[in-house]
Amino acid sequence: MTKAQLRTQMRRRRNALTIAEQTGLGHRWCARFTGLPLFENATAFAAYWPCRGEVDIRPLLNLGRNLGKSIFLPTVSATGMWFGQWEGTPPPKNRSCGLRQPTKNSPRLPNLRTLDFVIVPLLAFDRCGLRLGQGGGYYDRRFQLRRFQNWHKPPLIGAAYDFQEVATVPMDPWDVSLDRIVTNDEIITPVNR
Ligand code: ADP
Ligand code: MG
Repeated sequence: MTKAQLRTQMRRRRNALTIAEQTGLGHRWCARFTGLPLFENATAFAAYWPCRGEVDIRPLLNLGRNLGKSIFLPTVSATGMWFGQWEGTPPPKNRSCGLRQPTKNSPRLPNLRTLDFVIVPLLAFDRCGLRLGQGGGYYDRRFQLRRFQNWHKPPLIGAAYDFQEVATVPMDPWDVSLDRIVTNDEIITPVNR
């Protein structure tokens, strides 16, 4: 199956979730993740504002904020992706791309290495840690250094539903792997990376 075919199939499955299912699974996902020392010990992390059926991690964003952690959300533009500080309210909808994302007025993350982890949305994943995104390649470009051995921090954590697992995600040379995948049922540490 090609990346494009897999995207179509996975978008269809995600869209089949009702709002109640999305909310329930999102709460389960967040309960699992916020119990990890990785979350408890973090002072700063990046995540995303969910859209189009992505795992609803808003409970985690709110908890992190209440605990005083610094939280950053991605903004995509013609020049790539950068992270802006989350102000605690839904980010405004960008007029051209329709995504809710920090604006130019939000303080910008100076250095990726100050993050304790990054929660990454995805359409599909496999047990080797490969990730299929929406096709923009934004995470591949922003984290391209992750492909080299000397990358230690921050770990990339895929946020997934269990039905997004496939045997093998088609891989291109530029694809960046995930360090862990958290689903509503399981925490997966990839093998054979
Ligand atoms: P996604 O990761 O969102 O599933 P793809 O892996 O298919 O999407 O990548 C989408 C596009 O992003 C590719 O066609 C590729 O040209 C571009 N891309 C990804 N990583 C890089 C990179 N490091 N440098 C330049 N272009 C890149
Ligand atoms: Mg990719």
